[in-house]
Amino acid sequence: MSIHKKIAIGLVMGIALGVVANNALAYSPLFATFLEFIIKYFTGPIGQIFLNMLFMTVIPLVFASIAVGVMQIGKQNKLGRIGTKTFLCFLVLTAIGTSLGILLVQIFKPGVGIDPVLQSELISSYSNTLSTKMETFTSKGGFGIHTFTNIIPRNLFTAMENMDMLAVIFFALIMGIAISKIPEEQSKLLEKILTSIADTMVVIVGFAIKLAPYAVFALIFNLTSKFGFALLEKLSLFVFVVFLGYILFLTLVYMPIIGLIVKQNPLTFFKKILPIMITAFTTSSSNATLPTTIKVSEEEVGIPKDIAGFVLPLGATMNMNGTALFEGVTVLFLAQVFGVPLSIVDQVVVVLLSVLMAVGTAGIPGASIPMIMLILVNFNIPAESIAIILGVDRILDMGRTMLNVTGDVVTAAIITKTEGSWCQSTFGTQHINRTQSQKSAP
Ligand code: ASP
Repeated sequence: MSIHKKIAIGLVMGIALGVVANNALAYSPLFATFLEFIIKYFTGPIGQIFLNMLFMTVIPLVFASIAVGVMQIGKQNKLGRIGTKTFLCFLVLTAIGTSLGILLVQIFKPGVGIDPVLQSELISSYSNTLSTKMETFTSKGGFGIHTFTNIIPRNLFTAMENMDMLAVIFFALIMGIAISKIPEEQSKLLEKILTSIADTMVVIVGFAIKLAPYAVFALIFNLTSKFGFALLEKLSLFVFVVFLGYILFLTLVYMPIIGLIVKQNPLTFFKKILPIMITAFTTSSSNATLPTTIKVSEEEVGIPKDIAGFVLPLGATMNMNGTALFEGVTVLFLAQVFGVPLSIVDQVVVVLLSVLMAVGTAGIPGASIPMIMLILVNFNIPAESIAIILGVDRILDMGRTMLNVTGDVVTAAIITKTEGSWCQSTFGTQHINRTQSQKSAP
């Protein structure tokens, strides 16, 4: 059985058993103790081991693959063109995300008629979670002009230790550009070492992926077995609008792009990247998914290493299409709940702010929540009202992270297609891709 199928089965079984366990909780208090035990000693550790294995490869993999990718693109004098195309794709896709979100809220009006009692109940019961979230956010410096100046690290090793992705990416970008400018005899050794590091990390990711079916099962079981489904029902229209947005983005934006621009069968494309999508869905973290994204994109989609190394790490930190959509829906939803009218100009400002905030959102679970609070205060909507949706956020985060990461692969595919540099690689021919030269005929 292929690893794709195994991972998908893990996901389905995790959801099914998790929901059963969740229901059983209501019948027996003893079962709650048993469930705690299972999560603490079995499913919890399995999920954590998988996440740790992915995270331990992130920094070396991102650093080496960006530096090598940029160096190779730089040597071919294509950095400006590929860079411009990449950022343009990120920007357009993100703006479409928010606009679609806003449009759907206008159509379905999920914020109109939310029970005020439920509103204040939710705000008070999630206020503690919210303040913990805000404390973590502010302890990391919050958001401001320094968010952008800190992209340039003073100390690479501190940035690596703190998993400060943008700073590590910046250093690797600069290093790649610099290597492309020194004579070949001097750069050769560095190129070989960095390529070896990237290749070795991809092999380690392969070990982690072998664990994925069990880890996906465990992670999703942990979540669904303890999730407050009752709340999902109370906020059903809001949740429906967010998920409808994700589905529409997938079918009306990504699919036509894959069919018309990338010129591949969208369904085959999505089948190839299924492990990426499921990893994103279960971990709710673009960063944790990044190693899988790089491996699968190179080996199964046929994205050449230089483009994958450049576009995918940048995408994981800057290209958040699902997050932008979610931000658009949430801001307008809360504006409706509080009866704050937003003019067309206001809505354009929401789009602009959401794009900016999505770029600044870290690729970790729930990272967009503090960003949305910053948008809310701009429109005199109480920032703490975000607590209304906090209880259902994890489920929504799974969907938006899946969309975020899919957007990165779609962008990498657009760049590969327009540069005419596919690697010959489909299921089963992975090793060819890893050892062959950078460019080959489509
Ligand atoms: N969890 C998202 C990601 O990692 C970020 C967010 O929207 O909270 O891509």
